[in-house]
Order: sequence, then structure tokens, then C-alpha cells
Amino acid sequence: MGTDVTPRLSMKSAFETFLTAACDRLGYSASIKSLLSLAALEIKVEIPIVRDNGELAIFSGYRVQHQSARGPCKGGLRYHPEVDIEEVRGLASLMTMKTALVNIPLGGGKGGIDCDPHKLSLRELETLTRKFVKRIHREIGPNSDIMAPDVGTDARVMGWIHSEYSAIYGHSPAAVTGKPLALGGSVGREKATGHGIGIVIKEYSARYGTPLKGATVAIQGFGNVGLHAARAVTELGMKVVAVSDSRSAVYRKGGVDIDALAKRKKERGLLCETNDHDALDPAHLLETECDYLIPAALGNVITAENAPHIAAPVIVEGANGPVTGEADRLLKERGIAIVPDILASAGGVIVSYFEWVQNLQREVWSLEQVDAQLANILGKAARDVFDHAGENSLDFRSAAFDIAVSRVKEALDATGF
Ligand code: GLU
Repeated sequence: MGTDVTPRLSMKSAFETFLTAACDRLGYSASIKSLLSLAALEIKVEIPIVRDNGELAIFSGYRVQHQSARGPCKGGLRYHPEVDIEEVRGLASLMTMKTALVNIPLGGGKGGIDCDPHKLSLRELETLTRKFVKRIHREIGPNSDIMAPDVGTDARVMGWIHSEYSAIYGHSPAAVTGKPLALGGSVGREKATGHGIGIVIKEYSARYGTPLKGATVAIQGFGNVGLHAARAVTELGMKVVAVSDSRSAVYRKGGVDIDALAKRKKERGLLCETNDHDALDPAHLLETECDYLIPAALGNVITAENAPHIAAPVIVEGANGPVTGEADRLLKERGIAIVPDILASAGGVIVSYFEWVQNLQREVWSLEQVDAQLANILGKAARDVFDHAGENSLDFRSAAFDIAVSRVKEALDATGF
């Protein structure tokens, strides 16, 4: 291994910073803090598969169940080459806070496999997914731990999980969410995280009197979350001026053409090379002059290094953990408002909860029902955070953590712990 490897920033350390501060404000003991910081169960499995070229490849799969006092663990499954136990731990802890903040009866978990899904064939991906379920099936299920899509996974992957799990336990749609509609998935689930970002921004604008019409937005990430966030804010009358994916970025002063870019991305896998949009260095997207910045890709992208260059007065966290602990402090000092991930990106898990409820009750909801319930739950959570922040002179992340941490503690107390 070379010596110039940049140490990776830990998602868990940012979480620890936010958790410790919340426990201090709430007057909780060190042992409660430890309990809230530790995962209840951590699984690591090695998954060998035979590649299409006949060679053997071994991937590591993880599932972390952080907390289940408020309900079964809930959270996505991520396929990304940099997935490791530290990252999955951090993401699982965030899920506990996310489900508590929006007050749905679920806990927090997360999983991942250290693979690059873009470099695997469909057969290889399916084999990998099914083998992962074969290895961990005893620990997951509708009443213990429910997986869902995350970075690098989608409804098709959830369909394989459903099929593999059901082959062992009988038809069990509630064991996994974000499934294809044909297998008991919910309408409105695919767009839910991005759509939720729109709901939260609308509440923010109503509370703080910032106009939506013509407000400019830059979005990092043009996957499921970024694309649907772009659509949602456009519906609110806002103007998306810049978007990026992992390798390219585009800018257009008058507003980018979201549908044209989505089509291009689908066809070519990249956003760039457009005639009518300016190419932008993806590294500089976060520094775009705009009214709202939405990081909607990976974690730890806003660091102490680039925090001084962020030009947007408001950051809405569409990704999980996009701002490091140090950057959070620097941005606060600069007076930049941050709408935290556990609120802004909660739309996905809320509709996952609706999917789970529909599956358990053998019901099928309409899109109107899903959208209305999502707006109710997420809108209320946003107002709770803004109220709590205002009443206690806190930033939004601290307010959100205080609400979430105290709800988890209340459940722990109620279990007789
Ligand atoms: N992966 C999404 C998240 O981070 C959704 C999780 C879920 O639906 O369970 O919130």
C-alpha cells in the first residue's frame, strides 16, 4: 500500500460529535451516551462469487443494527467500493435518529457491500445479493430488521432480496422495502427522498419567509435522490442552476433542463458533453453561488477545507452525513443554515414505513394517500425542528438531535431499561 493514502473521514466521528453535544444539552449520563452510540449488533460476512470471466471474487458484506427500542431496525443497503464497517456503523446510527425524529415506529440499521455495482454484470449483482441474504437471513425480517435501497442499490436489488428471503420463510413482502410495485412495493417510494426535500424546503420557506419563486439551487448528485429533488424544487418554482454526478457537472444560469439531463445520464451514464449547458468542475459544484445547496450524493463531502468556500446561505442535506463535524462548526460560525440529513432526507424511510404497513395489512395505498401522509409526517417533523431551534436558540441539527435522542431515550426508559 502506498504511503500517500488520504485517511478517510469517519461518518461515525461526526455522529459522535452531534450525539455527545445532544446528550450534554439533555443532561444524560455517560452510560446513556455510550448506549446510544454503540450498535446492538454488527454482522460482517465474506461473499465469494464466480465472476462472468470465471474468476473468483470475494466481497465483504455488512449489516449493522444500531437501535430497536422504538421498533424494528430500518435502513438501506449500500453498494459502493468504499463501504466498510465504520461507514455502515455511522449510517446505522443516523437511521436511528432519522426514524425517531420523524416519529415513525422503527429503529435504525444499515448495510452495505464493498462492490462497485457499475462494474458488475446483472448476473453477478444478483448472485452477490442472493448470497448476502443467504448469509444474514436469520438476522433480518419484518419484525427485526428491514432493508431498503440506498446508494448503488434499487428496486431490482430489493426484489432479489424479497425473493431470496421469501424462498426461506414463505411470502414475506414486509421483510424489505423499496421493492418493485409488482412485488408489493409502494407507489411514491422511488421519488420519496427527493420529494421529501421539496416538502422540507417549502416548510423552511414558509417559516423563514425566504421566497421560493426563482430561488436558485445547486444539487450535488444526480442519482435517485438528486434527480427527484431537482424535480421537486422545480415544481416549487425554484431554479436548479447546477447539478453534478460523480464525474461531471453542468451549470446553466437560466436553469438546467432536468428532463434532458436525466435522459442523457440514462443513455450515456454521464451528465457532461451537453451543447446547451456549461461544463462545471464537479469539485466546485459545492461552491456554486446559489440560494440553496443540496448535497445529495455521498457523505463527508463538505469538509473543513471547502467549508470556507461554500457560497449558499442554506444547505439542505439530501445525502446522509454530507457535512463533517468540523465543517458543521465552521459553517455555523459563518451563519450558514444547515437543514440536517435526519430531517431533509427522511422522505425515503417514511414511505418505506408506509410500504411496510401496506404489506403487513395487505393493503394498497394510492399515490394521493402516500403523498398526503408523507407531507403530514415530514412537514410536522420540520416544524418541530424549527420550533425547537427557535425556542432554545439552537441550530437545526442540534434541535433535530435533541428531539430524536430524547425520543430514543424515552423508549429505552419505557422498556424498563
Ligand atoms: N436509504 C434511505 C435512507 O438513508 C432509506 C432507508 C429506508 O427506506 O429504510 O434514509
